[in-house]
Formats: sequence, structure tokens, C-alpha cells
Amino acid sequence: MRFTKLRLTGFKSFVDPTDLTIADGLTGVVGPNGCGKSNLLEALRWVMGETRAKAMRGGGMEDVIFAGAASRSARNFAEVCLTIDNSDRLAPAGFNDSDQLEIVRRITRDVGSAYKVNSKDTRARDVQMLFADASTGAHSPALVRQGQISELINAKPKNRRKVLEDAAGIGGLYQRRHEAELK
Ligand code: ATP
Ligand code: MG
Repeated sequence: MRFTKLRLTGFKSFVDPTDLTIADGLTGVVGPNGCGKSNLLEALRWVMGETRAKAMRGGGMEDVIFAGAASRSARNFAEVCLTIDNSDRLAPAGFNDSDQLEIVRRITRDVGSAYKVNSKDTRARDVQMLFADASTGAHSPALVRQGQISELINAKPKNRRKVLEDAAGIGGLYQRRHEAELK
């Protein structure tokens, strides 16, 4: 599974539809303060099923919707579309019948979030399961938030262990086991 494209519409500062190509290898995002670098990372987290408004630096989930600026009025919805190359067919069961996966999350004011995978309505839970492995996922250790390194250095051993377990790929396993036990 490889991320290939990200499209943001009305998401935080990205009011007009914005397309990004995610190339192979390491991706760096550079730009002046306040240009939207962290917003991009948050869009990635969000489309993978992030549910904590705090992780998105907002008070409520609807704070991801473009709130308006001097010359632009606020929007009623935010949408992020993530395209994944699944030609290696490594997506979990249920998502593995196509070479390309298009995950769309949209939040509408006063309505809430809805997800689609390849145009089909999908539960939040199933999208989170799709990304439950360590290399991806809204809580993936591969996405390092601003300030997270110093947090890690100052963390209690138990919290640091959680990060190491996630990095070792055990996190997704725990989550799937928990899900299986609930069934
Ligand atoms: P830094 O280099 O300081 O870390 P950055 O490139 O990471 O900056 P972001 O934090 O991604 O910048 O972007 C901040 C900008 O996004 C601010 O100008 C803020 O007003 C804008 N922003 C955040 N949420 C919204 C929203 N809901 N509607 C409109 N603009 C928003
Ligand atoms: Mg930032």
C-alpha cells in the first residue's frame, strides 16, 4: 500500500481544491510559518479516521472546515481524498479487490463525518481498520507532529513504551485483537 495523492477541499487553510502528488521515498514539506504545513499532515491523519479534535488542534471536529478569511467566506464542508496504490494487494481483507483505493472523508456542518472507499459508503471503524498497521494510521508513529520529539524525550516510561510498540507494529495487532474480541 503506497500513498500516491492527497486532495483537500475546504480543509482548514486549503479552501480551494488542492492536489498533491506523493512521490516515492521521503517527502519533505517546506514553507514559511503559517502556510499550512501542519494542516497537510493533519489532513492525512484526518482522512485515516482521526477522531480527536485536539489532535487536529481544534476545539471540535468541525473546526477543520475552512472558517473564512478577510476576503473569503467560510465553507460548509471539508473534504479530504487520499489515493492509495494497492497494486501489491496488501490492504486488509474487504478492501483488496482493486489496485487503487480512494478514501474520502467529508465533514458537513451540523451533520458530521462520512467516509467513502472507492465511492462506497464505509463505516469510520472500517476505515480506521484499513489503516490500523503501524506504518499508516492516524496515530502512526510515522507521522511525527511538531513538538512530539521533545514530548517523547520527557515522556513517562509507560507512554514511551506505547510509542515503541506502535513503531514495532504491535499497535495495529492489539487493535485488531480488541475488535475481534468485541465480535
Ligand atoms: P509553522 O511553520 O508555524 O508550524 P505551518 O506551515 O505548520 O506553520 P499551519 O499550522 O499548518 O502552518 O497553518 C496555520 C494556518 O492555518 C493559520 O493561518 C490558520 O489561520 C489557518 N487555519 C487553521 N484552521 C483553519 C480553518 N478552519 N479555517 C481557515 N484557516 C485555518
Ligand atoms: Mg506547523
